[in-house]
Amino acid sequence: RAKSAGGNRFELADPEADARAITRHGLTTALPAALERGEFFIEYQPLVHLGDGSVRGAEALVRWLHPQHGILGPDRFIPLAEDTGLIVPLGRWVLEQSVRQARDWRERYGDGGPLRINVNLSPCQLTHPGLVQDTVDILERAGVAPQALCLEVTESALIGADDDLLKPLRRLAEMGVDIALDDFGTGYSNLANLRRLPVSVLKLDRSFTQSMQQFPADPVDLKIVEGIVSLAHSLDLAVTVEGVETGAQAEQLRILGCDTAQGWYYARPGPPERLHQLALVDSTG
Ligand code: C2E
Ligand code: MG
Ligand code: MG
Ligand code: MG
Repeated sequence: RAKSAGGNRFELADPEADARAITRHGLTTALPAALERGEFFIEYQPLVHLGDGSVRGAEALVRWLHPQHGILGPDRFIPLAEDTGLIVPLGRWVLEQSVRQARDWRERYGDGGPLRINVNLSPCQLTHPGLVQDTVDILERAGVAPQALCLEVTESALIGADDDLLKPLRRLAEMGVDIALDDFGTGYSNLANLRRLPVSVLKLDRSFTQSMQQFPADPVDLKIVEGIVSLAHSLDLAVTVEGVETGAQAEQLRILGCDTAQGWYYARPGPPERLHQLALVDSTG
C-alpha cells in the first residue's frame, strides 16, 4: 500500500529538474573540449586601495563562452570541473594567462599599471602534487616575481586543514607568493587558527559589505568587522573587502580600517584593456 501511494509521486516528472540535469551533464562532458578549443576567457576586476583610491591589482575571474548557452559564470562550471578533475588543467590555464597579463600590464605601464594579480585556487588544486612546481614554472616563464601573485583560497577549503594540505601553500608563501583567505567570515573557522595558516591577506566576505549598506550600519556588524580588522592587523594580515557597491560602503569600510576594496562601485569584472584605462586615469589624475 505504501508503495502504491508513493509510486505516483516518484513518477511525477519535474521537467525543469530534468533540463538542469541534462545541462549539467552536457556541460560536464563538454568541458575538456572547451578548454582545448579556447572557449574560456578571463575577466579582471580591480583591487583598489581604500586610502588613496589607487588601483593596486586585479582579481582574475574565469568565464566560459559556451557556443549554445552564451557566457557562463564560474558558479555554473567550476563545481563540475572540480568533480571531473578538469579543474587542474583549467586552473593552470587561468594562472598562466593571468600571470602573463600581469607582465603585460607592467610592460605597458610600469609602476603606473596594476601591480598584482589575484588568482582563485580550488581545493582540488591544493591537493594536486604539481601545484608548487607549476606555479614556479609559470612565474619564471613570464618573468614575473612571486611577490606580484596572490593565490586566493576559500576559508572553507582550509578548515581543519592538516599539515600536508598546508605544505604547498607554505612553500609558495616562503617564495613570496601572497595567500589570501577568500570569503572570510562564512566558514566558522576558529580565529585563533589563523596563526597556523600561511596567509597574508583576509578577504572579508561580501555579506559583511552588504551589512554596511544602511546608514548608520548595524552597530553589531560594525563591531564584528572592527574586531576582525584589528585581529587581522595584529597578525600582520592585510584586509580586502569584496562586493563594495556604493560609496557609502567604501567610506564605512575605510573608516573601519580595511586596506583594499573590490566591487561594482569601482568596476565590474571586465576585459584586461579596462584595467589599462582605470590604472592610467589613476596614475595621471
Ligand atoms: P570570489 O573569488 O569570491 O569572487 C568574487 C565574486 O564576486 C565574483 O563572482 C565577482 O564577479 C563578484 N563581485 C565582484 N564585485 C561585486 C559586487 O560589487 N557585487 C556583487 N554582487 N558581486 C560582486 P564570479 O566572477 O561569478 O565568481 C564567483 C566565484 O567563482 C569566485 O568567487 C570564485 O570562488 C570562483 N572562481 C572564479 N574564477 C575562478 C577560477 O579561475 N578558479 C577557481 N577555482 N574559482 C574561480
Ligand atoms: Mg576570489
Ligand atoms: Mg571572494
Ligand atoms: Mg565571495
